[in-house]
Amino acid sequence: MIPVITLPAVFRPAGAITLTSMKTQVATRPAPQTTAGLRSVESIHRSTGFHWVGDGFHVSTYFPSAGLPAERVSPFVLMDYGPPKEFAPLARGKRGVGWHPHRGFETVTLAWEGAVAHQDNAGHAGVIGPGDVQWMTAGRGIFHEEYHEDRFTRAGGRMHMMQLWVNLPSKDKAAAPAYQPITAADIPRVALAGGGEVRVIAGAYEDARGPAHTFTPITMLDVRLPAGGKLPLALPANHNALAVVTKGNVGAGGESARTGELILFANDGDRLALSANEESHVVLLAGAPLDEPIVQYGPFVMNTFDEIRQAIADVETGKFGPLPG
Ligand code: MN
Repeated sequence: MIPVITLPAVFRPAGAITLTSMKTQVATRPAPQTTAGLRSVESIHRSTGFHWVGDGFHVSTYFPSAGLPAERVSPFVLMDYGPPKEFAPLARGKRGVGWHPHRGFETVTLAWEGAVAHQDNAGHAGVIGPGDVQWMTAGRGIFHEEYHEDRFTRAGGRMHMMQLWVNLPSKDKAAAPAYQPITAADIPRVALAGGGEVRVIAGAYEDARGPAHTFTPITMLDVRLPAGGKLPLALPANHNALAVVTKGNVGAGGESARTGELILFANDGDRLALSANEESHVVLLAGAPLDEPIVQYGPFVMNTFDEIRQAIADVETGKFGPLPG
């Protein structure tokens, strides 16, 4: 049994943290399986609603959620997806979320449209533009801010993005904060036999290796398929795997999922296959699950309540370092 404690407002700023609004969800672990063959589909999920992160990111939190138990999506702990959304030009000011802390995991931000400007108190800054990915290791503790990039804010336009939280194993939760700015040009592309292509962000596809350095085995693929296109993928059977359909309609294991739906694959085979029923865009996420307790509280993902209390105390006593300027 893995206790999972989640709080809806995951971007809660440091000053607003309280321990009074935790809710507890306890999930059971499925029996481990080692099966050769094609994976079946365990379940298909839709998002349950949208909320704003700061005033810049209109997202739906697919997990953590009751329908997607933590051990079935591990090592991922959170997915916020922001479908294409139009923003009007803004003459002054900025949209987004100000300084807030993180500890115990990594944030991975993908942008397909628009541009996100990032800055942190470990000295990193950058812009995540169309096709770019930012892989930030919060590790032992970081403050960062996430805003629409200034020119995008002034001109207005469409924002289309996703943020994932990738858990760190207990032994790496105190890793030094780090930052991998992965530009679209850094990401290898593999053309698929039946048309379409795979951008390999993390892990491998055929001979291509993704540029992201990860603490545990992770596969992250950004997939475009024409109608009738297919994605075959070999994966260890024990790796959790899910596919987010950001556009189109995709078949897998006799089921189908359309725009906005997430396919959770069963861990019952060493390969999976997607087939596009129409032109589609899919984000494929997979990885070796961490077999450790998860206690998530706001912007912290740790193994125990004591570690959460310590994180809050460390923020309050300045151990996450000073804020720039
Ligand atoms: Mn953040």
